[in-house]
Amino acid sequence: MSRDASPGGLTLRLEEEFRKTPLAENLGHSLAPQALEPLGPADYPAFGRGDLLVTRHRGEFIKPCPGTLNYNCCGLTIFHFGLGCTIGCRYCILEAYLGTAALVLFGNVAEGLADLRELLRRPPAERPRRFCTGEFTDSLLLDKRTGLAAELITMFAETEGAVLELKTKTDHTDHLLGLKHKGRTVISFSVNAPDICRCEESGAAPLSARLKAAQRAAAAGFPVGLHFDPLIVHPNWEEGYARTAQMIGEHLAGAEVAWVSLGCFRYLPSLKEVMLARHPETSIYDGEFIMGGDGKMRYPRPLRTRMYRTLVKALREALPEKTVIYMCMESPRVWRDVFGRDPETEGLAAELDRRAMELCG
Ligand code: SF4
Repeated sequence: MSRDASPGGLTLRLEEEFRKTPLAENLGHSLAPQALEPLGPADYPAFGRGDLLVTRHRGEFIKPCPGTLNYNCCGLTIFHFGLGCTIGCRYCILEAYLGTAALVLFGNVAEGLADLRELLRRPPAERPRRFCTGEFTDSLLLDKRTGLAAELITMFAETEGAVLELKTKTDHTDHLLGLKHKGRTVISFSVNAPDICRCEESGAAPLSARLKAAQRAAAAGFPVGLHFDPLIVHPNWEEGYARTAQMIGEHLAGAEVAWVSLGCFRYLPSLKEVMLARHPETSIYDGEFIMGGDGKMRYPRPLRTRMYRTLVKALREALPEKTVIYMCMESPRVWRDVFGRDPETEGLAAELDRRAMELCG
């Protein structure tokens, strides 16, 4: 039986102005709301694990992926609906970045959905092709309570020339499988070597549960995506990643796998101290790292190249040729060493756009 990765024991704290919104009503089916004074991000650290804050977002809901200096980016556009995650991966930047273990959902998300609807009404040539949710959270962690993904899937099903990607480390997908999607939503699973899933992502659904959820999504006609990010050096990593690739082949034979991204472990120096204080037993920060051109610590280039080549070979054996395999936030030099070419950010984005358009017809 799979573990339920959704956070239990949540206290819903809701700003008064959002009490009558569809989001509050959906959350109210399983949680009793408590009143919350209007907050800003500077107030989030006063709350902690178990708090679910529904508050106003004052910035943009739709924005391009920020990418990272000197590395090729895949060019996704993000729909930003909330912050925080309880899965607790020991490499997660959120631990150092957010300053709180509380979860935050934007009570005015309807304004964001209206902006998105308007953007999707523009002719395809005048707007992005690929969208995702969850820059600072897991796309589906709370979705069984919020119902947001269903609204987005329906919106994209009604829009030609655009694809939505929902990325998760949960197996919270079955409530979406009956929706009309027209192949325009890719349900993506973040996966890793079995030992990394077990030890470093212990709050996530087990690897086999994620792949079974992917299998069910594919059976319901959804294209699926896979993300190996971060690839982590650990004892027998070659065998570990080969095993995951083999499991992918077993679960997704015949499925429409849109794309697989690969990204080696990288972190801001400040994250290491935070994580080692919380998880002194983890060894993922041991070993050799160098400072990259974006200020993040990365494995040395020859090691990254070896890891990518190992994965690409194993995945090519497991998946059909048309599956796009690409690297997330990698340097032109590593692209040339692994794939024999450097598409640059524009070329990579165009390649993924083409694949997205193939999927959604
Ligand atoms: S699932 Fe993603 S957002 Fe959540 S803790 Fe893990 S890395 Fe962070």
